[in-house]
Amino acid sequence: MDAVPSLTVLLDDPTLPGELRSIAAKVQDHQRITFDEGVYLYKHASPGYLGVLANHIREARHGHNTYFNRNFHIEPTNLCVYDCKFCSYSRLIKQRQEGWEYTMEEMLDIVRKYDDQPVTEVHIVGGVLPQYDVQFYSELFTRIHEHRPGLHVKALTPVEYHYIFKKAKIDYATGMKLMKEAGLDSIPGGGAEIFDPEIRDQIAKDKCTADQWLAIHEEWHKLGMRSNATMLYGHIEAYHHRVDHMERLRQLQDRTHGFQTFIPLKFRNQDNQMSHIPEVSVVEDLRNYAIARIYLDNFDHIKAYWAMISRSTAQLSLNFGVDDIDGTLDDTTKIYSMAGAEEQHPGMSTRELVELIKQVGRRPVERDTLYNVVTDFADFTFPDAEQPKFYKLPVLN
Ligand code: SF4
Repeated sequence: MDAVPSLTVLLDDPTLPGELRSIAAKVQDHQRITFDEGVYLYKHASPGYLGVLANHIREARHGHNTYFNRNFHIEPTNLCVYDCKFCSYSRLIKQRQEGWEYTMEEMLDIVRKYDDQPVTEVHIVGGVLPQYDVQFYSELFTRIHEHRPGLHVKALTPVEYHYIFKKAKIDYATGMKLMKEAGLDSIPGGGAEIFDPEIRDQIAKDKCTADQWLAIHEEWHKLGMRSNATMLYGHIEAYHHRVDHMERLRQLQDRTHGFQTFIPLKFRNQDNQMSHIPEVSVVEDLRNYAIARIYLDNFDHIKAYWAMISRSTAQLSLNFGVDDIDGTLDDTTKIYSMAGAEEQHPGMSTRELVELIKQVGRRPVERDTLYNVVTDFADFTFPDAEQPKFYKLPVLN
């Protein structure tokens, strides 16, 4: 599929409204679209139009390459001092019997279980509890590196960092430097939710503000390090809140160039305090990916979590600007399943992920966390005998 003729066909369409023609021309000329144009796309653009523009950008940047990595998660606890309304995962401390709290050794045991596996990344994120402080996480990162020096530690969000630095009475710059020295390699994108203060206050009261979230990433980027960014969409926010969120990210990225990937996260309504709010449709998910690809012209990658949106929607998303569908996971995260995601035991072998990508005519490329190519699976043939391996994790009750 050649994207350039597709965009040309769109521009030649005499029925296309002037605003959409102007935005398409900007995309063709590699020009940035404005805030108002972003809102206009959300309100008026069809999925077909958005798919053409987003795919044009995606293929210009990455061709058919579709990235994934081999990773596993450690979720230290599902207890949390905060009480975000959309969170299906956390249990307040008063509900301790429904939760787990891993010790340092239990977390290191999880790392050791992967000793014979070709994973490149451990993704560590969970609830916020007082015992997991600067000292605890510093020791954890250091010990993971001592045990397996090549394993990339992608850990914690500004929600945790703001909390632990405040408790330790250190500023963000000092704190992030300490984390880097302890062995932190990058920061995942979570905790961003929606930056607009009024919406944020209604759904995620008390945890770090938008400015604090952005400031922590900025300090991390100043150290020459990389991170990701998310956006929780499809709840009580309006379209202009989504564009405002992306605009703040685009401005920070102009200053630091430290973000690698933008990850839209769909609000799921199972078992949380916002269960009365209906979920948006798959069509809206695809439109949202596409608009993110168009708006965030200074982000290299747009990622869809296949475990959150289902395998088939992840396949569709590859025509709407997405070039990354995350990792193999091996059933080590409960964040998606507890929120009502289609995948209740998320895990795919490398072979399954590769086949999923090839089925829709894209090129599967295993990457490490920093997008260095580990294996290009375009012409790779799996031995017939290979079986996927899964591990059960200990869950403390
Ligand atoms: S979203 Fe994160 S910070 Fe908020 S309650 Fe859930 S685990 Fe805690």
